Amino acid sequence: MQLRDINVPKPGPGQILLRVGACGVCRTDLHVIDGDLGEPKLPLIPGHQIVGVVAEISENSRFRIGNRVGVPWLGSSCGHCHYCLTGRENLCDFARYTGYQIDGGFAEYCVADEGFCFPIPNGYDDNHAAPLLCAGLIGYRSLRMAGDGQRLGFYGFGAAAHILIQVAKFQGREVYAFTRPGDRAGQEFALGLGAVWAGSSEETPPAPLDAAIIFAPKGELVPAALKSVARGGTVICAGIHMSDIPSFPYHILWNERSIRSVANLTRQDGYEFMELVSKVHIGAEVNLYPLERANEALDDLRHGRFRGAAVITL
Ligand SMILES: [Zn+2]
Ligand SMILES: [Zn+2]
Repeated sequence: MQLRDINVPKPGPGQILLRVGACGVCRTDLHVIDGDLGEPKLPLIPGHQIVGVVAEISENSRFRIGNRVGVPWLGSSCGHCHYCLTGRENLCDFARYTGYQIDGGFAEYCVADEGFCFPIPNGYDDNHAAPLLCAGLIGYRSLRMAGDGQRLGFYGFGAAAHILIQVAKFQGREVYAFTRPGDRAGQEFALGLGAVWAGSSEETPPAPLDAAIIFAPKGELVPAALKSVARGGTVICAGIHMSDIPSFPYHILWNERSIRSVANLTRQDGYEFMELVSKVHIGAEVNLYPLERANEALDDLRHGRFRGAAVITL
């Protein structure tokens, strides 16, 4: 990424202009920058966990100048394809994604389709609200896919897991945290947030899991997680990109275990999650970087140099 001075964008019909207050950094930003996801808009401003204040509106807007809103990964959907018409706009044939096909929030200003923005609950400043918009929100969709089981495994204890453990605990569930082998700091972090057990991803948990969510982009975690879930358990791949999954013996999938991915979010997920976090206060641990140091934030994320979430603050 290069720092550039560009003109403030103009909102079109149905769009709003936001003065960005904070934008969370997500592993997907790394995948976009690394070219793991094909055909991004170029040149591109990444960033899809945007919290900002409305600076300009178009006609008949539901927002007012000065409202604080959040912009998530789903920037728009078509509203008329088979998926949109069946409540699955996260799978829309014509969806466009923030910070990928639409300029995102690593900038002082951005434009967003107002129908895809969320009000941000009170009780969160911009920096602490930003990670809720993807780490929290798509994490929440993954958590829903995990069903009602009591024992949940989280593989990779980064931005999403450290938010989701707070939701899972509120729901009365147990979290088992799996980190890179030797990552004692990550395991301590998880235990400090209330994990009942923390260990390496190569270990077997002390009790079989009802479901496991894989946040780390490593395909070899899929068979590892399958071995740790009980009969009927689900392994959920929460990331947008993952290295190849190695082959594994059928018997670890047998007995109605399943593997599934979670893609994107629907606006319904967003409304539900914002409602939830207005009731349960999520204390995200944020590592702040000014815009000029955005490359450093991404590099630190790549190398696991911080715990919690990185946020570009403006
Ligand atoms: Zn659609
Ligand atoms: Zn994201």
